Amino acid sequence: MDIEQQSLFRAFREYRWDEVTCQPYKEEGAAPFKAISRQVLFAEPQLGCELRYFEMAAGGYSTLERHEHMHAVMILRGHGRCLVGQAVRTVKPFDLVSIPSWTWHQFRATEGEPLGFLCMVNALRDRPQLPTEQEVAALKAIPAVAAFLEG
Ligand code: MN
Repeated sequence: MDIEQQSLFRAFREYRWDEVTCQPYKEEGAAPFKAISRQVLFAEPQLGCELRYFEMAAGGYSTLERHEHMHAVMILRGHGRCLVGQAVRTVKPFDLVSIPSWTWHQFRATEGEPLGFLCMVNALRDRPQLPTEQEVAALKAIPAVAAFLEG
């Protein structure tokens, strides 16, 4: 359905929303990730931003990446951990996570349950960068980050 013709009210049911299609997180093979889906909840051009819902199955993870645009995240479901820069935190429903420009970030669901979160971004945004081997090595020099990246 055309996003501009969506209903004013769309009901929520089991982490899906009326008129919202559940899509692949990214193009397959574009970047490393595991067991994650994407639903675009709001993307009207007049807003200038988009609100998406991402959900990863137990043990799943998003891509380790960075970019100029920012993310504003609210955890909605489950438990997991996230990396923002050099910081690793556990996250739970309704926690807020700010991801600044050019900051490495990744989300990982715990083994026992899915992790779902809302993510607000600029409508016009740059493409994510993936870390080089040297950048991964630099991140892994921080013990907490190494433990996080090694799952
Ligand atoms: Mn990102």
